[in-house]
Amino acid sequence: MTKCKKMPEWDLSEYYKGTDDKKIDEDIAQYAKKANDFALKYRGKVAKLDADAFLGALKEIEEMDRIASTLGGFASLNSATQLTNPKASALYQRVVEALNDSGKNLVFFALEYNKLSEKAVSNLLSDERIAFYKPYLKRVRKYKPFELSEDIEKTLLEKDITSGSAWVRFYEEFMSRLAYTVGGKDYNEAEVSKFSMDADPKVREEAGKEINRVSKEHSFEVAYIYNMIMKDKAVEDEKRGFKLPMSSRNLAEKVSDETVESLAKTVKANYKNIAWRFYKLKAKLLGVEKIEYWDRNAPLPFEDDKKYSWQEAVDSVLKAYNEFSPKLHSVARDFFDKPWIDVAPKEGKRGGAFCSSPLVDGHPFLLLNFVGKRNDVLTLAHELGHGCHHQLRRNNGLLNETSRMTTEEVASVFGEMLVFQSMLNNAKTREEKISLLAMKINDMINTAIRQIAFHFFEVRAHNERKQGEVSVERLNEIWLEEMRESLGPWVNVDENSAHIWEQIGHFFFLPFYVYAYSFADCVVNSLYWLKLQGKVQDFEDKYLELLSKTAIGDYEEIFAPFGLNPESEAFWQGGLNLISYYLDELEALI
Ligand SMILES: [Zn+2]
Repeated sequence: MTKCKKMPEWDLSEYYKGTDDKKIDEDIAQYAKKANDFALKYRGKVAKLDADAFLGALKEIEEMDRIASTLGGFASLNSATQLTNPKASALYQRVVEALNDSGKNLVFFALEYNKLSEKAVSNLLSDERIAFYKPYLKRVRKYKPFELSEDIEKTLLEKDITSGSAWVRFYEEFMSRLAYTVGGKDYNEAEVSKFSMDADPKVREEAGKEINRVSKEHSFEVAYIYNMIMKDKAVEDEKRGFKLPMSSRNLAEKVSDETVESLAKTVKANYKNIAWRFYKLKAKLLGVEKIEYWDRNAPLPFEDDKKYSWQEAVDSVLKAYNEFSPKLHSVARDFFDKPWIDVAPKEGKRGGAFCSSPLVDGHPFLLLNFVGKRNDVLTLAHELGHGCHHQLRRNNGLLNETSRMTTEEVASVFGEMLVFQSMLNNAKTREEKISLLAMKINDMINTAIRQIAFHFFEVRAHNERKQGEVSVERLNEIWLEEMRESLGPWVNVDENSAHIWEQIGHFFFLPFYVYAYSFADCVVNSLYWLKLQGKVQDFEDKYLELLSKTAIGDYEEIFAPFGLNPESEAFWQGGLNLISYYLDELEALI
């Protein structure tokens, strides 16, 4: 990693000049006024609107959405790189509260729309201009059975600031302040997690135990937060009539509970054939009988500790994108010509990586914590996939677009796949091939299999929460059981990893999100398998077309050109078979 050259940082000034920008207050006031006027104009009248007036209302909502997304997007991105800066978090909180406060004036619209008869709805939709908003209106409509009265909806929205959202914010800020000591030096959450990929087993062990120790030290706070988040969700779920803790998430994703259950079941049935088999090989490659919990992501002994400079990472990712599709490549290049990526880790910066797009018709921003490892290159490929995915659907309309996690991870995981395949193709020695394959399988297991073990953890935790608060000890127990079952007999899972569930951010800020990784991985694996076989004509164009429609089309529709159907059980197994296929290759090489 070149230390002398400053790493690229993102520039948010196209939204606001900074935390003190006066335009922030102006926009907050404007949003409040528009929301207030909107309620005065339309409340109690939605049923009587003709097509022109209804269209006018939709356009007003769209305009308010633009202001809210700009404010919310800026406040959240601005604080992501400075979590410990009180000014940034104060702004974030102020914006969230202001938007929430005015936003409750808009609640009536969806409720009144959902009271319209099917006939009235189809009359409105027969107008071409309104038909453009069909994905949005369909989304509003499917909440019909789970809606509460306007008063309760408004109260829930208002109370969210001090309940659900408050705990999520507390969790994030709390975790970002924790320090982990390894080799006598202090590290933050993001930095310490990188040690799991260190070549030295002693460093991995020290860091692994330290993460667990710090988590254990704060387990009272974290378990308290988690219990609150689960209960908060349960209260609302019960009022709305959702059957299972994951049902509300599944509704948002347009996935049936049964589909998710079938995915989870199929993956579980593959623990032994894939994960166990792999860790057995990994133990052999590492020269031990059993690997430790923190060795799962360890590099192989003969693996070169290749470091990538930022420029090398960019070049290799762009090259792989270009080999697959010059069209995709030209979309991707923008990200490096413009200040859209925040590259290096910094104090107070959020760990991990993400891609966030405040406005549907604007460009996304990428946050990375790049330190130059091969995995960081793949993470770049991943987040860039998200970024390109967004760019391909900018014309879908502000209201129509919504991120659906199950397809949200397709472009990202596919992007990683492209870079991996190009690394594999360029591998010169047997050792290099082995280490690349091992790394990829490791990664696929982390995505397709481990996330399902996470899923079972949260299903059980939420179910037990219904009977009362779940203790730290019990949460540890569930965690260890799920880890043991998924990792198998060649991974040592003991007290030294009992608290790691506290580190899985998704459990806190997006309950029941984790299965989406597995869902998407199986989808991508199936797609990639088709690409390798070369049986789908014009694969590249069909793929880009698929990306442009993921958030507005139904599954059957978007996967039909590939002959895939995620509702069928064979579909999941098909995706998992690609991992087995790579495992066979790895076994043959060893
Ligand atoms: Zn992602």
